[in-house]
Amino acid sequence: MIKLHDLSFEPYISEEEIDAAITRVAARLNEDYQGESPVFLGVLNGAFMFASEVIKRFNGDCEVSFVKLGSYQGTESTGNVETLLGLNHSLKGRKVILLEDIVDTGNTLNTINGILEKEEVAGYEVATLFYKPEAYKRKFNIKYVGLEIPNKFIVGYGLDYDGLGRNLRQVYKRKENNMTNLVLFGPPGAGKGTQAT
Ligand code: 5GP
Ligand code: MG
Ligand code: MG
Repeated sequence: MIKLHDLSFEPYISEEEIDAAITRVAARLNEDYQGESPVFLGVLNGAFMFASEVIKRFNGDCEVSFVKLGSYQGTESTGNVETLLGLNHSLKGRKVILLEDIVDTGNTLNTINGILEKEEVAGYEVATLFYKPEAYKRKFNIKYVGLEIPNKFIVGYGLDYDGLGRNLRQVYKRKENNMTNLVLFGPPGAGKGTQAT
């Protein structure tokens, strides 16, 4: 278990599982974009590790660019997506692969869709390391997904909790509050013999 600011987190997804997920995504990208010279567009800050690992595994010519957006405060999406650092060169006529750390509500994606529509790109797909299908509110199809996860708050591998945790090599999830168990079963040791094990 680890503590970041006021919250506790427990190990959730191992380095090996993350690595295997990225390898699967990269294999599909290599197949689908053979000879295409796409532009990888990473979304900062969260996607920096995923972007680096996917791009390293891409065999053909490609360009790399980043945009910086923000919507999260603490462990909740504010719904307000701000562009903190926009595109610095034209993507007109290019095939773009957006690289995201995680797709949650889809609000960030929706903002980027708007930006890319104005750019008149030739094609546009999303590759995300993590995806929360239960939280997703948009229609846009996410073609490349590393791992689907339930609607839980995670940190590590680029993802932060108020600035901390991005450097962690594995992914942790917010530790559930144990109050319900305490109410149902009493403190450890209480009701010995009848407690569910
Ligand atoms: P969306 O706009 O899809 O709701 O959320 C996108 C952004 O919110 C992600 O790129 C990420 O920065 C942040 N986010 C969403 N879910 C999580 C989560 O479980 N953990 C962390 N650390 N950030 C998240
Ligand atoms: Mg992100
Ligand atoms: Mg964040």
